[in-house]
Amino acid sequence: MKKPILYIVIPCYNEEEVLPITSRDFLAKIYELIEKDKIDGKSRVLFVNDGSKDKTWEIITKLAQEDEHFIGIAQSRNRGHQNAVLAGLMEAKDKADITISIDCDGQDDINAMNEMVDAYLDGCEVVYGVRSKRDTDTFFKRFTAETFYKLLYAMGAEVVFNHADYRLVSSRVLREFADFKEVNLFLRGMFPLVGFKSTSVYYERHERIAGESHYPLRKMLALAFDGITSLSIKPIRIITGLGTFISILSFLAIIWTFIMFYMKNSVVGWASTISIICFIGGVQLICLGVLGEYIGKIYMEVKHRPRYIISERTWDQKDTKQN
Ligand code: UDP
Ligand code: MG
Repeated sequence: MKKPILYIVIPCYNEEEVLPITSRDFLAKIYELIEKDKIDGKSRVLFVNDGSKDKTWEIITKLAQEDEHFIGIAQSRNRGHQNAVLAGLMEAKDKADITISIDCDGQDDINAMNEMVDAYLDGCEVVYGVRSKRDTDTFFKRFTAETFYKLLYAMGAEVVFNHADYRLVSSRVLREFADFKEVNLFLRGMFPLVGFKSTSVYYERHERIAGESHYPLRKMLALAFDGITSLSIKPIRIITGLGTFISILSFLAIIWTFIMFYMKNSVVGWASTISIICFIGGVQLICLGVLGEYIGKIYMEVKHRPRYIISERTWDQKDTKQN
């Protein structure tokens, strides 16, 4: 079997402190896998500079001159981690057979890559890197991160628990993924939508080697919101449900006001006023929910996601035009 070409895709934003250290480890990993005969010599470490304001790009260009296994691309401006990973994956999809996306701060254990490549060689097209422990995270980070996954799950977004963006993806999956044209990116929730055989490998997450996290609570919340709204229209369903519930309540309230009215327990005008308020409130919420349902449908339509993806055919794939 032909050895796969691996591209390690690494988004970098203001990482001048860590890049000189971690780039050595990534290169050593590429050499190790080549020596072990697992991957092809044409494998590369692909850095994606996400509009850094420090010396990150200078470091990347210098690394690229030093060793041919280092290559880099730069985004014209800072677009955020998800877009940087996407840019790297799309750049790699036609050159590589497999890609592994990983952060450049040394937090994710690069030794898990061996297992990932093995899983690919065993037939998996997507391998999720899952954090087995979060001991090195602060209590706050661990708590917010775990709440984040639970919230996503409750809202109907299917994600692999405790998996961030450390994952192996084959070029075949990436070619299908390229048809997911949406602008709101939430990669970890989108790859499960593409399908294909997948598995998880477990690793321990370390502390950042140097520098500071670019994901403060504010950005985590924004990512969670993006995740929920880009993968699910459950929040709209909640409005419709709430509307129906309040309408039922207001209907009961109307009956109650009539009873009060006939029992002469109310002042003149009270019954009619309360009835109208309840009625309008309920009807309005249902209308909002119905409108929301249509907006949700439009939202899903404008994404132009592929409606089906074929993974297997009984005839020789080479006979047909590549999809
Ligand atoms: N990153 C990026 N663009 C950004 C923010 C972050 O490319 O706007 C990169 C960053 O260089 C790192 C990865 O995304 O390689 C994860 O960021 P960070 O380590 O700050 O997040 P955390 O691990 O704390 O969640
Ligand atoms: Mg980090």
